[in-house]
Amino acid sequence: MKSKTYDVAVVGAGVFGAWTALHLAKRGRRVLLLDAYGPGHSRSSSGDESRIIRMGYGADEIYTRWSQSSLIEWKELFAATGNTVLFQKTGVLWLAEAANPQLQSSKEVLLRNGVTFEEIDRQTLACRYPQINLDGIANAIYEPESGVLLARRTVATVVAEALRLGADFRLASIAGPQGSGVLENIKAGSGEIFSAGQFVFACGAWLAKVFPELLGGRIFPTRQVVFYFSVPAGNERFSPPALPTFLVKNDECYGMPDLESRGFKIAIDRHGGPVDPDTQSRMVSEAEVREIRQCIAYRFPALANSTIAETRVCQYENTSSGDFLLDRHPEMANVWLAGGGSGHGFKHGPAVGAYLAGQILDRAVPEPRFMLHSKETVQRRRVY
Ligand SMILES: Cc1cc2nc3c(=O)[nH]c(=O)nc-3n(C[C@H](O)[C@H](O)[C@H](O)COP(=O)(O)OP(=O)(O)OC[C@H]3O[C@@H](n4cnc5c(N)ncnc54)[C@H](O)[C@@H]3O)c2cc1C
Repeated sequence: MKSKTYDVAVVGAGVFGAWTALHLAKRGRRVLLLDAYGPGHSRSSSGDESRIIRMGYGADEIYTRWSQSSLIEWKELFAATGNTVLFQKTGVLWLAEAANPQLQSSKEVLLRNGVTFEEIDRQTLACRYPQINLDGIANAIYEPESGVLLARRTVATVVAEALRLGADFRLASIAGPQGSGVLENIKAGSGEIFSAGQFVFACGAWLAKVFPELLGGRIFPTRQVVFYFSVPAGNERFSPPALPTFLVKNDECYGMPDLESRGFKIAIDRHGGPVDPDTQSRMVSEAEVREIRQCIAYRFPALANSTIAETRVCQYENTSSGDFLLDRHPEMANVWLAGGGSGHGFKHGPAVGAYLAGQILDRAVPEPRFMLHSKETVQRRRVY
């Protein structure tokens, strides 16, 4: 029996692939979405409980604008599907030392783009957030409309919506395509073949393995560890609205309040060591526990002796700069590369999907920052 031919096959059902499939399905295309393990599975970068959506991006205005448009689209999707709980408007609090360049330039960009934010002085911070030790903090901005996306459940919602609009989903591990010219089909590990007019590879940290020669030296997967700490019994100081989502530039840490009673989430944003997403251990090490305990004892002293409720080991799929990779394959005219979320991509899922649909269907002018030629083989992180 001849298998169905699709307009577009999207390989990878993380947040980038799911939103790309949804945008293409909304535009009436026959879409096949495939994933080796399932949408938003626990080892994918999109598979944690929660991800921050914030507007501040320093001088990198394109990401501020994409966050703005994405938040609108996320909310529309949640409203349409009866899932408004999937966006938690906790507010986002940025804390930094004096003259932190990212905060300075964020203020200008937020103002220019009409994002509501508040500058908060030390005295007000101390009154509002007595649960935070403010040593070394001189600068703060608060984004009241920003917050948290309940990540793996939002991916499931995006995929369900794409299927409702006619897309198909298959569990399949797809081999990296070889050769050049026009790709006619892709092959699963089971031997099954899927045909389509265009192919999008949105494979997260696996992109480097699917295209080893092209991307092996351009996507840098790093180990990233996340902790959920128990909060004191009967104490509301670590829940919203008393505590917003926070990013502390001084300590390179970020986290969020106790959402859905899963615990106070905290992690270090610094890149961990290089990893293979298939083989890295998902257990936290004693050294990682020691580091986060030092951080929490210093910044949130009331939690110094809290028990660890849950942990999660994941990976960032970094490009050299932190800019996304959204581009056509240089040798295969109908193959698209989508990834390089670099530790900040989740929130942008809607904008990424719209951008790729525009590239594929409308031949829209590409943004140079997202193109393959701008991805270097040495990491120099610029985007935070
Ligand atoms: C600890 C941590 C914290 C983060 N915090 C934030 C945050 O607060 N805010 C934010 O906006 N972003 C954040 N990010 C970044 C964000 O989560 C990622 O950029 C985003 O989830 C990447 O999505 P993706 O779809 O590109 O990749 P993934 O979610 O990894 O999806 C890729 C999918 O491709 C599939 N796949 C791979 N190879 C194949 C194949 N050969 N065949 C079939 N399927 C295949 C995989 O199974 C996987 O499901 C964070 C990331 C981490 C790790």
